[in-house]
Amino acid sequence: MNGERVDGAGVLDVLVVGAGPAGLLLALALHRHGVRCRIVDKDDGPTDLTRAPVLWQRTQEILAALGIRDSWLPETEEMREEALHFYGAFAGTVPLSAPDSVYPKALYAGQDVTERLLEAHLTELGVPVEHGTEVLSYDEGEESATVTVRTNNGREEAVTARWVVSAEGSRSVVRRDLGLDFAGEKYLGYRIHIADVHARWTLATPVGQTFFYIDKGEYMGGQRLPGHPDRFYFYILTVDDRPDDDSNELALEEVQRLVRQISGDDAATLSEPRWLNSARYRHGLAETYARGRGFLVGDAARVAPPLYGQGMNYAMQDAWNLAWKLGHVVRGLAPEALLETYDSERRPVGAALDARIDATFRFITEPKPLQAAAVRAVAPLVLKSGLADAALGRAFTEVAVSYAGTGLSGQQSSLGRLQAGDRVPPLWVKRLPEYDQANLIDLFDGDRWTLLVMAPAGSDPHRAQPLVDEALTYGARFPQALRTVLLSTGPQRPGPLGLETVVDAEGRFARDHHLPATGVLLVRPDGYLGYAAQVGGTGLAAYFERWLHVGRSITHGD
Ligand SMILES: Cc1cc2nc3c(=O)[nH]c(=O)nc-3n(C[C@H](O)[C@H](O)[C@H](O)COP(=O)(O)OP(=O)(O)OC[C@H]3O[C@@H](n4cnc5c(N)ncnc54)[C@H](O)[C@@H]3O)c2cc1C
Repeated sequence: MNGERVDGAGVLDVLVVGAGPAGLLLALALHRHGVRCRIVDKDDGPTDLTRAPVLWQRTQEILAALGIRDSWLPETEEMREEALHFYGAFAGTVPLSAPDSVYPKALYAGQDVTERLLEAHLTELGVPVEHGTEVLSYDEGEESATVTVRTNNGREEAVTARWVVSAEGSRSVVRRDLGLDFAGEKYLGYRIHIADVHARWTLATPVGQTFFYIDKGEYMGGQRLPGHPDRFYFYILTVDDRPDDDSNELALEEVQRLVRQISGDDAATLSEPRWLNSARYRHGLAETYARGRGFLVGDAARVAPPLYGQGMNYAMQDAWNLAWKLGHVVRGLAPEALLETYDSERRPVGAALDARIDATFRFITEPKPLQAAAVRAVAPLVLKSGLADAALGRAFTEVAVSYAGTGLSGQQSSLGRLQAGDRVPPLWVKRLPEYDQANLIDLFDGDRWTLLVMAPAGSDPHRAQPLVDEALTYGARFPQALRTVLLSTGPQRPGPLGLETVVDAEGRFARDHHLPATGVLLVRPDGYLGYAAQVGGTGLAAYFERWLHVGRSITHGD
């Protein structure tokens, strides 16, 4: 059923508008849920531009959950560290790693690679991107929304879908027709130059190192790109010296002049430009990420200048948050109220990023008196001590993004240091019956909830039986939506208790997160903790009652 064309009378489940990283990932994940979707894009093919060059750790975990992360490996390099230069002096390096991820290092891959691979996987699944198909307008009815598209042969077509997701980027037509405000501001007076070029410079960064310079109201970031030892990616914020010119043209000589000026390397020589672009940037955030039958993901919901390298990664995470919710509602496994949690979870995360980028932008462009001297004096000490590593890791790698206190975690629950809304951290376990190695987060495949029963494998193998019985009852009640797993701790092999079982022989999980010996963790399909308690009982029952439907599942795609 997937990829089916529905003209006129038929109603699709979901229409995805835009095949950038957000739309492609969303369509891939929706397909897994058996959702009937189409994905259209006005361009003739995926981008051939470098644009976002980094896949952060959380994004890699999502690609792994979809079973496709390995496709990136032949075309990427691992990021080892970022070298920081402030106001004319080298300050030190920071690892930007995520020790608590299965993938502690970020990966370099241009957005052209990421889009090409995502689209190839989608095509393999039989969901072709309908390129050359532009959405002209969006109109909403009671039961569905109708979108008018113009195909590449000039024909206009009305596509009707229960839900429409705009992954159109910052100039979203759907957002316009939903009447949503996109508050923010254009950073007038500045331009950001982008250059994907060959470069020879004495300060050339080694493979696996990014660089970031701040100097006199300007910044320059970038890295060596995979594929050629001289290929570099630069993005340079500078004062707009041609305010009356709206063109995006950029001369190679101008980039070379700025690289020399900001890095202090007078011998830096640039050549073979693959992409040169100069533009004014804005930051902006939609007033809501969802209204009626329309949703916004990625740049359609939030934009900012390239500064922390988060835009594409956040875009894919918007898609990951929304996909399973749409999948559950379309399949009748959950109430429509679940869809409201997309905005309440993802918008605060987007707003926090927007505020962080705006504050950093102003810190750089509007320096206070003595700022340069103070940063030059303090930064090397802080970086050398390693004190900033964890905080900077959290700011970049996205594994610390949490929905605690919002959406599905509005009713707070916690166990030890794990709080509802937090990403469930990885844990190496042995899987019964073969006792082969696996990671706990491999269980969270984007499809089903996981009810994890934690119990010690002590001398009495049936100590956990009441919790196990409760889990089995829920498993039988929600067969399509829920997976039930026993997380057994301790060196002894647990006896067969009727549940899929993984073993944490050293009890690391409980120790690292200060957990009691027994308890239940209900993990959402996207890998975030939904509910946690020492016993199941009424709290767990109320959570299930609220977010899952019993016996109303509708099977699609068969
Ligand atoms: C110069 C530059 C540097 C960047 N650097 C980084 C970085 O270092 N790290 C990072 O994470 N991010 C970076 N970004 C941001 C990143 O590129 C975006 O955040 C990311 O592309 C957003 O993905 P998306 O899928 O939401 O939107 P987009 O990638 O913009 O995709 C939108 C798609 O929708 C299609 N479309 C638009 N309108 C319509 C319509 N009406 N009908 C049909 N199709 C339509 C477009 O053709 C496009 O394919 C950078 C961006 C730029 C421009």
